[in-house]
Amino acid sequence: MISDKTIALIAHDARKADMIDWVIYNSETLVKNKLICTGTTGTLVENALKEEKTVPDITKMKSGPMGGDAQIATLVVEGKIDLCVFLIDDLTANPHEADIQMLLRQCRLHNIPVACNRHSADLMITSDLWGTDYTPSTPTYQKFERQ
Ligand code: PGA
Repeated sequence: MISDKTIALIAHDARKADMIDWVIYNSETLVKNKLICTGTTGTLVENALKEEKTVPDITKMKSGPMGGDAQIATLVVEGKIDLCVFLIDDLTANPHEADIQMLLRQCRLHNIPVACNRHSADLMITSDLWGTDYTPSTPTYQKFERQ
């Protein structure tokens, strides 16, 4: 089970209810880890987990549209995030699309697991690889000649 890791949680407004449901469902696991959230997501997660009487170590960054995604992207670059759960609203245009894409790109580039839906999040959080001596291979970017 995942423990002593740093998990980033971000949910767009239309996806916040889903995030809260997921967080409550996984509260016993999440409390064993450190959580880094965008502002509003963090406040909602904290309140929901307080009601569950599981109080996690939670850090709230700025709200997403005010730079929170960019702050979390910086932590990814610095190697300070182990897993990112990012519930994106794919049905609404976001003012901070550039920051959203930056965060996703930095997760891909730095080989950080990023779950954009609950199914992926459930699979990632329950992986048996956490806590083993598994080391992810370094991504390679090779020049490719088109045929
Ligand atoms: P929020 O930000 O948690 O502050 O709402 C999320 C986002 O829109 O990226």
